[in-house]
Amino acid sequence: MGIDDESREYHRSDPPGKIEIATTKPTNTQRDLSLAYSPGVAAPCRDIDENPDDAFQYTAKGNLVGVVSNGSAVLGLGDIGAQASKPVMEGKGVLFKRFADIDVFDIELDLDTADGIVESVAAMEPTFGGINLEDIKAPECFEIERRLSERMDIPVFHDDQHGTAIISGAALLNAADITDKSLEDLQIVFSGAGASALATAKFYVSLGATKSNITMCDSSGIITEDREDLNSHKQEFASDVDGGSLADAMAGADVFVGLSVGGIVSQEMVRSMADNPIVFAMANPDPEISYEDAKAARDDDVIVATGRSDYPNMVNNVLGFPFIFRGALDVRATGINEEMKRAAAMALADLARKDVPDAVVKAYGDQPLQFGPDYVIPKPLDPRVLFEVAPAVAEAAVDSGLARVEIEDIDSYTETLEA
Ligand code: NAP
Ligand code: MG
Repeated sequence: MGIDDESREYHRSDPPGKIEIATTKPTNTQRDLSLAYSPGVAAPCRDIDENPDDAFQYTAKGNLVGVVSNGSAVLGLGDIGAQASKPVMEGKGVLFKRFADIDVFDIELDLDTADGIVESVAAMEPTFGGINLEDIKAPECFEIERRLSERMDIPVFHDDQHGTAIISGAALLNAADITDKSLEDLQIVFSGAGASALATAKFYVSLGATKSNITMCDSSGIITEDREDLNSHKQEFASDVDGGSLADAMAGADVFVGLSVGGIVSQEMVRSMADNPIVFAMANPDPEISYEDAKAARDDDVIVATGRSDYPNMVNNVLGFPFIFRGALDVRATGINEEMKRAAAMALADLARKDVPDAVVKAYGDQPLQFGPDYVIPKPLDPRVLFEVAPAVAEAAVDSGLARVEIEDIDSYTETLEA
């Protein structure tokens, strides 16, 4: 059976879909039911009415994330609409649960305006401890996230933007270290100027890259100041140069970041880059240039990452969102800020430098996993990611003033995660 039919079968086997609701309290007796619902339920309601934060102790809010999409930019499928995106959003819920024990309501909204989505999601604040915006197309996604973050007192995080930024940011920190280059001096070329590329470029600057060293290309080539077809988000990264193609931009560059479409980078372009180049070809499912071709283009001095699981250095968002939300929820954070994102990237980068447990090596077919050009970020199935990233994010939330509750002892918090 091919993967398509296998997946249809996986989804439709009884019960249809991938998630269900389970109750967490006794429901055996009449007494249990009068506690769960009327009349007993009135007491927690009154308490929350007096003190809204009591919702965190009396309801599932604090461990519940809304995965919200309108299906306008679904991975590899494009604008398939809200209903057709539901399997993807349920799947995101599966990953939240599997990797960080976070519960998800997937919310598919049949809406195509920023105003409509902002009003709908903002109105759902009482339900959730956090909102993961998913697969909403650029440039609307920028405005939607900004307006919701301003309005809501819970984390709002558009994973397609920041997930890639944080995980490839961790890879960049380590790749720069391995090649003995300083972030500040890196000449960085982006292919793509959409949701993920723009957020990633901003995040690299937040990590220490120099904005004027970034050259961004879209489907029309280098984004220059004199182009008149730019939205305000692209304008922010416009370069003061004459213009040209992606190939022109890549000549002499230290870093290539591909968040565009597959197959548009040649070996010649990789050969034209500076010594010890870093190539993150992250278009899915086919990278801008394949891992093998990028490696073969150079005399063993290139670090290559892709979005693919069948090659080293897989930039996979699942290394980020479950653990970032875990840390944020556990301190009842009111948002996810730059400090928390940087803490996540640094925790991932640090973890890649540690010895990898045998169980993880085995899970990845016994290939050697040791810090170096072919292992700059941890593997998605490494259980230590939870214990490293969630506490780092929680601490950063506390230190930067976004936490509603403090964590008294970070080590015992980490132990509760391990339990
Ligand atoms: P998006 O918002 O649609 O942006 C796509 C960008 O690619 C646009 O700026 C587009 O240019 C540009 N583009 C299209 N054809 C191009 C070409 N021939 N040369 C240069 N640029 C070109 O999409 P996104 O959500 O940012 O995702 C972009 C890609 O990154 C997808 O392949 C996605 O799967 C991948 N991705 C991977 C990961 C990961 O590995 N973890 C995470 C997120 C995204 P215009 O602006 O001119 O249309
Ligand atoms: Mg997505």
